[in-house]
Amino acid sequence: MNEDDGPGTPTRSAVVVGAGLAGLTAATGLAAHGFAVTVLEARERVGGRTHGIAAAPGVRIDAGAAYLGDRHTELNALAAELCLKTTPTTMLGASRFALSDADDRPATSDGRFPPLDAVALGDLFERLAELTDAVRPDAPWLTPDAERLDALTAAEWAERHLTHPDARLFFPLFLGEMCAADPADVSVLHLAFYLRSGGGLRYLNAFAGGAQQDRIAGGAHQLCERLAAPLGTAVRLGEPVRAVHQDDRSVTVRTDRGAYRAEVAVLALPPLLADAIEYRPALPQPRSGEHTARGCAVKVHLVHPAPLWRDHGLSGWSVNARGPLLSTVDDSPEDGIGVLTGFVTGAEAHRFGALTPERQRAEAVEQARRLFPMLPEPLGVHITDWLADPYSRGCYAALLGPGDWTRIGPALTAPHRRVHWAGTETSTAFFGLMEGAVRSGRRVVAEVLARG
Ligand code: FAD
Repeated sequence: MNEDDGPGTPTRSAVVVGAGLAGLTAATGLAAHGFAVTVLEARERVGGRTHGIAAAPGVRIDAGAAYLGDRHTELNALAAELCLKTTPTTMLGASRFALSDADDRPATSDGRFPPLDAVALGDLFERLAELTDAVRPDAPWLTPDAERLDALTAAEWAERHLTHPDARLFFPLFLGEMCAADPADVSVLHLAFYLRSGGGLRYLNAFAGGAQQDRIAGGAHQLCERLAAPLGTAVRLGEPVRAVHQDDRSVTVRTDRGAYRAEVAVLALPPLLADAIEYRPALPQPRSGEHTARGCAVKVHLVHPAPLWRDHGLSGWSVNARGPLLSTVDDSPEDGIGVLTGFVTGAEAHRFGALTPERQRAEAVEQARRLFPMLPEPLGVHITDWLADPYSRGCYAALLGPGDWTRIGPALTAPHRRVHWAGTETSTAFFGLMEGAVRSGRRVVAEVLARG
């Protein structure tokens, strides 16, 4: 409740900070248990890292999160509760690969995996599987040999263990695709944890039968829009939270427009953003460190009258050693326009993000036409630069760098008196994904109820 509403605090009340999937799942759950809930959201929209943008009249596409799989059980259940349908991600036809310096002559191949040395890639995946199997997904900092694995970056690991040039070429592309990371930004412990948390290397990487199997028909942003609708004016947009003060009786959350007092606060933000808020009393320790990085993703959508590549036996899937589009995928709605999505990730996202919009457009269109020469000038080009976004420090998610897991891991979820934490980065299952966000929202509801 707003402090101006009068003295006293209802027996059960909560302020939720962040109207992404985690915050809105938490707010909805707490409201269902009789809490008076206020949701404070910095942006002028709900959804956070899910965001629908208009690609054509009546057609919205996913500028943020898009894909889900059948192991994303909480997310699928939520979509069903909200009367949203899923649609399969289309992956029919041959793939295109531009992996050598003869970039202007991409190869066409039936499989989804790049036509690189099979033994070298097999060896890479075996090594990654060993790391993944050994990690403690519920508490990565308790993994045997955690200190050593946490001190080493994925780049250093690759330098030591990958000798074949094809494995060295593929590894950063794989990491960009999996978690929008540059290998220098993540510890080996984080990489192993991320892969394990997401269901393992094969599941995370797969379309049919894997984490990219489906999309929410009409866009993932609808999840948050539908969660927010019944909460009505309890969701307050355009209110970045600056401070969280608490005493023995209540917690007060301050924005530039007001102060909101409640029994508990749930902060459902990426850790780097949560750490930018002032806490009184101070947090016992920060929940991010100097090496905590943000995933770096720019999403490019090229809109065509139809998925024209399909007429030529191509799936729209491509993997490319040189940017800006390090991979492309067919994200067309079930009928109607054709949408080719390009992913610009890791270090390439920083380079691309610094270009003028005109240059970005020119580079993306030129590369798409090298990959798919049948494409005419697109009807529309939409570029969503998540790096430049002040309210998403981590896209797809936060990247835990050297030393982070062993130093800050336990603090990610430990409540600070009346302050509880949610957000995909607090979920040990499906960390970084929409599923992780929903699970964190449900976990925090149980945690708050258990306060008694
Ligand atoms: P967020 O969605 O980030 O919500 C946090 C909210 O807090 C935001 O609305 C933010 O504006 C708000 N906020 C921030 N600071 C403040 C403040 N000081 N005061 C008040 N409010 C504040 N996941 C998948 O499962 N599948 C995918 O295919 C996928 N692809 C992705 C592609 C991209 C380009 C991106 C960016 C993400 C992708 N993800 C994907 C990840 C997924 O979007 C996230 O895991 C999930 O949406 C995170 O939800 P959240 O509620 O934890 O955080």
